[in-house]
Amino acid sequence: MTFENKRILITGSTSGIGLAIAKVFAKQNATVILNGLGTIDEIKTIIADLSSQTSGLVVHYDADLTDPVAIQGMMDKVQRDLGTIDILINNAGMQFVSPIESLPKEKWDQIIALNLSSSFHTIQHCLPLMREKGWGRIINIVSTHGLVASVNKSAYVASKHGLIGLTKVVALETAEENITCNALCPGWVLTPLVEKQIKTKAEVGHKTIEEATYELLAEKQPSLKFVDPADIGEFCVFLCSEAASQITGAALPMDGGWTAR
Ligand code: NAD
Repeated sequence: MTFENKRILITGSTSGIGLAIAKVFAKQNATVILNGLGTIDEIKTIIADLSSQTSGLVVHYDADLTDPVAIQGMMDKVQRDLGTIDILINNAGMQFVSPIESLPKEKWDQIIALNLSSSFHTIQHCLPLMREKGWGRIINIVSTHGLVASVNKSAYVASKHGLIGLTKVVALETAEENITCNALCPGWVLTPLVEKQIKTKAEVGHKTIEEATYELLAEKQPSLKFVDPADIGEFCVFLCSEAASQITGAALPMDGGWTAR
């Protein structure tokens, strides 16, 4: 399958997993629509780097995805400039580690808004465009924490379980329409989101970064290896192919055995 005439929006694609997915689709010459935080210079560098690897267009649209009005503004601009969105990858997300009694209320609201509600808003906007074209792919980057829980991650786990629920409903509502909606559930991936957790683990436990990294993996991920973000990109390419047209409403782990335990 060729992606040359496909327009793909990846939220939270200025870093980590989202950026890796963007790179894989840029190499497929898709039109890549980036979103995510960063300085003007950082975003310019990302666009220049991706543009050097593709004959497709690479653009960035700004929006704080915790704000529904900003999301609407971004989606309207994308539609005005590019016409449609064929593939939507809801990836933007954040983590905050704290026991439930001390989790600040505003952190709960922020995590639910970003990790869950933003996907509702982008899907609501994209679905009519996909229906008009009779083809679409929606991938929600969830986490093993959409399937199982861990202590001190109440907002994150709740948001990710919710996102799997949303995925299933969208899949059912589009089942006959050549549109699929799936949840991809990675285990540990070494990105800034996880590096922060390793640093805290090392500080609190008076350990080296290497010791804290080993402990983090050993506790959850039987392979003892991080998931490569580029492999997540390749998995997304497969889910967007015709061969995956009957995979919909699925929560697909990519977790080195985490959820097999
Ligand atoms: P990351 O911190 O490297 O990237 C997060 C991205 O989201 C960045 O581009 C950031 O700018 C963007 N973002 C943050 N707040 C935003 C906001 N308010 N508005 C718009 N964009 C915003 O994190 P990552 O590890 O690449 O995580 C990406 C996704 O993958 C998240 O949904 C995360 O929950 C999920 N995930 C990560 C792991 C992991 O181990 N790293 C595992 C499973 C799932």
